[in-house]
Amino acid sequence: MSDLQVVVQEITDEMQAMPNRGEVATYIPELAGVDPNQFALVVVDAQGNVAAGGDADVPFSIQSISKVFTLTLALGKFGDRLWERVGREPSGSRFNSIVQLESEHGIPRNPFINAGAIAVTDAIVAGHQPREALGEILRFMQFLAADDSIYIDHKVAASEARTGFRNAALANYMKSYGVIDGPVDYALGVYFHHCAIAMSCRQLAMAGRFLAHFGANPSTILPVVTPERARRINALMLTCGHYDGSGEFAYRVGLPGKSGVGGGILAIAPGKASIAVWSPGLDVSGNSKRGRLALERLSKRMEWSIFGA
Ligand code: GLU
Repeated sequence: MSDLQVVVQEITDEMQAMPNRGEVATYIPELAGVDPNQFALVVVDAQGNVAAGGDADVPFSIQSISKVFTLTLALGKFGDRLWERVGREPSGSRFNSIVQLESEHGIPRNPFINAGAIAVTDAIVAGHQPREALGEILRFMQFLAADDSIYIDHKVAASEARTGFRNAALANYMKSYGVIDGPVDYALGVYFHHCAIAMSCRQLAMAGRFLAHFGANPSTILPVVTPERARRINALMLTCGHYDGSGEFAYRVGLPGKSGVGGGILAIAPGKASIAVWSPGLDVSGNSKRGRLALERLSKRMEWSIFGA
């Protein structure tokens, strides 16, 4: 067994023994029934070695982790013009907050809060039917993970569409400022569906490899984005990837990361590894409780914090 596999297994055992698992998200009814006892940790290193622990092949709802990939797609289409409609600053607010939007004229603080991600989705949809845009996002995920079995969980998407009044409010509010170009329903529909993509930690860690290796998948040497763009997406993940828990995540883990209310986190150790963790129970900021703790232990034991050992 490799050193990395030993560490991953140790952390998996420690997390599975932990009694306090946090609360699963209930505001999307379909997520409320997920078993909080599940846990998975997968690390893919630069050589393509995979270290996996726990429920590594169980698909879960990636939710906001999808925002990293929609941002990547939108930057590919619009380049720096994307920043005319969304900012790059941490919000210090909850993921679905509406207050900042009013004082900042409908321009969301960053692409990872809900408002920002809906604006990014609107940019991707522009000029297309929602179904085409969604197909493009799903195919991008399948391509990055080299796995065509990745799918959208339509029950989760429908569940959020039925109850996503706050996201609808954010989208309508942005529309009133002209920040959303297309029909609000299109942007929201595609947003709910890309949040409902289901992936396992193994698939997610594979999909994140281009961010860990300067924009290219090291196994195929296929460039996905330029090194500069990968660096910048990582910077946004570090500063904005955990909503109002982003400072705490940087302090404890020291890696770029993006969480989702399904309990997953994608974390990047630049030049070293792509990491996916999943534990459905959340903390008060809506980030995976055991997920963050597992990453804190991993980055400490592997000395992967970008701020030094
Ligand atoms: N689809 C969820 C929402 O819009 C994503 C939130 C998250 O994963 O943090 O509320």
